[in-house]
Amino acid sequence: MTFEALGLRSEVLQSIKEMGYESPTPIQEQAIPHLLQEDSDFVGLAQTGTGKTAAFGLPLLSKIKIGRKLPEAIVICPTRELCLQITSDLKIFGKHLNVSVVPVYGGADIKKQITDIKKGVDVIVATPGRLMDLMNRKVIHLNEIRYVVLDEADEMLNMGFKEDIDDILKYTPLEKNVWLFSATMPKEVAAIASNYMDRPLEISIGNKNQGNENILHTYFVVYEKDRYPALKRLIDFHPEIYGLIFCRTKHETANVAQKLSRDGYNAEPLHGDLSQSMRDMVMERFRNREVQLLVATDVAARGIDVDSISHVIHYNLPDDIENYTHRSGRTARAGKKGESLSLLSQKEVFKIKGIERQMRTEFVKGVIPNAAEICQIQLKKLVQKVTSTTIREKDIEPFLPEMFEHFKDLNKEEVIKLFISAEFNRFIEYYERAGDLNASERSDKAGQGREREKGERRRDENKTRFFMNLGKRDGLNVGGLLRTLCDATGLKSGNIGRIDIMASYSFFDTDSEHVDRILKKVNGAQFEGHTISVEVSAAAKSSGPAKKSSNFSREKRSFGGGRPDKKPGSQGGFNKRRRDY
Ligand code: AMP
Repeated sequence: MTFEALGLRSEVLQSIKEMGYESPTPIQEQAIPHLLQEDSDFVGLAQTGTGKTAAFGLPLLSKIKIGRKLPEAIVICPTRELCLQITSDLKIFGKHLNVSVVPVYGGADIKKQITDIKKGVDVIVATPGRLMDLMNRKVIHLNEIRYVVLDEADEMLNMGFKEDIDDILKYTPLEKNVWLFSATMPKEVAAIASNYMDRPLEISIGNKNQGNENILHTYFVVYEKDRYPALKRLIDFHPEIYGLIFCRTKHETANVAQKLSRDGYNAEPLHGDLSQSMRDMVMERFRNREVQLLVATDVAARGIDVDSISHVIHYNLPDDIENYTHRSGRTARAGKKGESLSLLSQKEVFKIKGIERQMRTEFVKGVIPNAAEICQIQLKKLVQKVTSTTIREKDIEPFLPEMFEHFKDLNKEEVIKLFISAEFNRFIEYYERAGDLNASERSDKAGQGREREKGERRRDENKTRFFMNLGKRDGLNVGGLLRTLCDATGLKSGNIGRIDIMASYSFFDTDSEHVDRILKKVNGAQFEGHTISVEVSAAAKSSGPAKKSSNFSREKRSFGGGRPDKKPGSQGGFNKRRRDY
């Protein structure tokens, strides 16, 4: 289906063309024709990132009369972030209509918002608290309103805006249409639909309460004391991570961000004790990728609309399952893939079942990578960085003779080893003292016994562990890996031991006698159009039971590639009942 076939205003179509949208997303395809043709109420169940702003924004701008003094449409959303995002999108969609869209939200100068509204406005985009405030001051009049859009309705109710929404809807004319969008459908949202809507058309993208299928959900079981070191390992194992780390409280958020920053990671906190301007600055830097890891509370992160977040990490699970959906929905936006990683204590493992049931999705049990696996990944990244570096011949030429002189007695291998060691030694040193951080799923002894039987065995000395360049993302599963290995080498599946399939890599064990055969036959073999590369994992060469260490060297920073620019937050806040941002 094309946008032209949907029946939108020509000026709106022109904007879509300029934005480069080629075809409507599923929610747009289903919602737009209906909203254009019918004067009816509407419920759209869709995650963020599915294109729902355009699903309501395009028909809205095609239907309203532009240039009247009083607004015909009002969009209500939970956060300041989202309010600004929707305003910006509507302005772009309505560029050729000269539409006036005014955002109103808490925490900003109300006088400026009043002046903007008094100039005349076609669409108001508002957070509930500030909207009520402006209605009470008689600045905003809703008597001409024909369309009320409630965006992220479930979030608004979560944040305690139920009363405000009830009041706002009561002040709007009876014959208006309400268009409600929500990622999930808890009973409170269903109540709005039944109280304020007349036989709404309901469109659902995916199942009700279902998460985005492009997200890979993994959980890791760790001892409480290992939560932070485990977090660091997950980050180190994904050197290209661009991630959002969720904590349960403001204090925990500040604490984790501070520790990460101190340990050389490029991380910043985002929580309600920071002033609005500080939060804006952090968000701006995160959006521009100057910050690699944003550590946030649920409330502060609501409405964050940043494309390309690769990982959401739940440092602690949220108390409310609905919040898990919202958190994880910050990754895998606009059709991209993403990962949601949860750190759990043994006591929390049962919560996963509840989330799986509610989201109709499955979690994978992950293994916190060991020291050698992380070193191998980091080393690969270092080599990639070095080999893709541009040599600025002219600039370095004057220095080269002296440099060459220093290395004149060394061969190529020795020089490479020296450079790698200079970058890598401290990293290896940290990890060489780091032990296994995986806890069994159950804390009792019987449970541990069963786990072991199930395959969480200690590594056998006669086995060799291999690293493979393909993972779940490439469609690889245990069966596929076994089949490929056996086809390529002629080995039987019984010759292959433990297999760990990660998102983009895998590890497997075989009896050490097969090492040569595997390296020779599997390297270059094909799996579903991908060329396989295997090597003996560095883990295979690591020796002895490792001891624990606590502090991570600042030198590690060079591997993360970030800039730990920590900026302390200042006390702020403006709310009485709850925070409106
Ligand atoms: P939303 O769910 O409204 O937050 O949209 C998520 C992202 O998808 C935004 O970056 C939009 O610009 C983008 N988007 C929305 N609709 C389309 C479309 N039809 N084609 C391409 N990108 C789109």
